[in-house]
Amino acid sequence: MFCVLACPRKLIKESGKVNKRGVMYVEFLPAGLQCTGCAMCAIMCPEACIEVYK
Ligand code: SF4
Repeated sequence: MFCVLACPRKLIKESGKVNKRGVMYVEFLPAGLQCTGCAMCAIMCPEACIEVYK
């Protein structure tokens, strides 16, 4: 959940759902069009789960 804290625009939130491994995942909010592509979310993710592209 580091990405939730890292996003300066607060575009990522906890989904409240778990995947098949039982791990809660995050969701990119519809307001994601406001994403600047700063990549702070990707940099902070210890699992390297996030790829930022434009
Ligand atoms: S790349 Fe977009 S979603 Fe990721 S931290 Fe930056 S503004 Fe937020």
